[in-house]
Amino acid sequence: MCRPSCARRIGKRGSDEFLVKEKGLCLTRKGQYSIALCFPGPYALGMAHLGFQSLTRIVWETPNFWGDRFFTDTGPSSLAFSLPLSAFHIVAFSLSFELDIFPFLFMLREGGISLLTGERTERDPFVLVGGPVVTLNPEVVAPFVDCAVIGEGEAVLPALFFLWSRLRGEGASKREVKEALLSLPGVYVPEYCTPRYRGNVIKGWEIERRVTLPVKRQWRDLEDFETRTFIYTPSSHFKDTALVELNRGCRYRCRFCAGSCIYSPLRQRSFPLVLRMLNTVCEWSNKVGLVGSDVLSYPALEEVIGFLRRRGKKLTISSLSGRDLFEREYLLRLLREGGLETITLAPESGDPSVRLFLGKGLANDDWIELVLECLQKGFRRVKLYFMLGKPRGGVEEDLDFLRCLVEKIQSPSRLFVSYSFLVPKPHTFLEDLEVASLDTWKKEKEVFERELRKMGIPFSGESPRLSWIELVLARGDRKIGLCLLELLEGRGFTSLPSWRKVLARLGRDIEEWPRMPWREGSKPWGVVHIGVWDSGRSLGSDEWQPAGENQEGARNHCLSL
Ligand code: SF4
Repeated sequence: MCRPSCARRIGKRGSDEFLVKEKGLCLTRKGQYSIALCFPGPYALGMAHLGFQSLTRIVWETPNFWGDRFFTDTGPSSLAFSLPLSAFHIVAFSLSFELDIFPFLFMLREGGISLLTGERTERDPFVLVGGPVVTLNPEVVAPFVDCAVIGEGEAVLPALFFLWSRLRGEGASKREVKEALLSLPGVYVPEYCTPRYRGNVIKGWEIERRVTLPVKRQWRDLEDFETRTFIYTPSSHFKDTALVELNRGCRYRCRFCAGSCIYSPLRQRSFPLVLRMLNTVCEWSNKVGLVGSDVLSYPALEEVIGFLRRRGKKLTISSLSGRDLFEREYLLRLLREGGLETITLAPESGDPSVRLFLGKGLANDDWIELVLECLQKGFRRVKLYFMLGKPRGGVEEDLDFLRCLVEKIQSPSRLFVSYSFLVPKPHTFLEDLEVASLDTWKKEKEVFERELRKMGIPFSGESPRLSWIELVLARGDRKIGLCLLELLEGRGFTSLPSWRKVLARLGRDIEEWPRMPWREGSKPWGVVHIGVWDSGRSLGSDEWQPAGENQEGARNHCLSL
């Protein structure tokens, strides 16, 4: 794939330290139109992000386009060709988490691009966003984007780039291009849909011609393309590791899980295709990370691990399903023999009834047996995910469960607990859940950490303050989006007092409003049809239906807890 003028040789001083270590795809200036590939985080994280790697591959393969990368820690100009952000025709961002919205805005501003879509001229770049946050709820970023991709980039971007370049080549204005893009599945152009408010209630939408709402999430057959590390660097967040995606989607439907909604349905890659990807990345790295929401469902997992063992490669896998591993001793043995050292499991709660409600299985005794089995099999460490801020609390039950575990293993340092707060995401079964108060979150964190310290279990956890801001953004609308401009000026993105001030002007209380914001009217994220829990909405309908209409079952279930 490399060409003589590849970026790796041209790299400017400063970028060289990144570029010289890279292997694989070499970005060249090979076409008429340029795309800034922007990651809202540092280089190491971006290079460990398969979504960003895929975006790079898509741009590379698109005729007449070339791309260069931007990260938050590689300076204001592009990595290989030292160009400012404003010099590109399109700037494309992949937003995975709500807090990515802040670096997204910083990068636009630092790049000299007007933040508000309406203030940009014909000469400014076209701002394109995608990724999980945008698919779940594009409304918070609506004031800043020309167009949003709903669903998988592989399913939307090739057609979008083709149409964009054809129309720009014919001299079409930005507005004409956007109007044309409306005809593509999975494309949302916010300026053509304006929410109508009464106070803080969304009463409906003013929709311009040709707009069809809700925009349906798009996905592709995984056999049509590869998803792996395309540009390898040993300095990625997962040190010395190349990544290969086996599948997307998940057999389970945990009620809080946004991933299972975004990547549904479960799709497996064929073994020959996986083998091709493994053969490529094994040339670069001695460690291979297998990626997928449901890795253990991969039909040829044994063959994949066998291949890696024969090549002398180490294996890493993200989180594994306890339900699949319990009483499947051969699977644990296989993973251990494959070189997996830390096994990551997610019981989420120590209370079996809450666990069941969340969609997680297994009784407490079964989880304890599984952890013991993992340790006996020789895994160096078992990492356990827990969720705080659950309906009906449960932090005491979580601690009781962990105490039982520690009594049995007598080596708490071989455990590691990682916790986060339950932030109900749009389109999940729990989207209407009334969240506990911020004070409750803070108290739970204090108790949980104090008791973990007493038990001698190492841990890491999320900040209740940042998770609360994540909640505001996840459940946010365009009004919240516009507040971000003021927060950006005052550098108050992560300051609750700053948030309190700007939300008060909207008549929203920072402590109360995010707990259950859309009791009446439509929800902002109703502009998107995900097609999982919201399956009550007609997939074939062109009519706009307010979100929430078919959610009564979910809401009642949550409230009855
Ligand atoms: S098992 Fe994991 S990926 Fe699957 S639905 Fe549950 S939380 Fe999501």
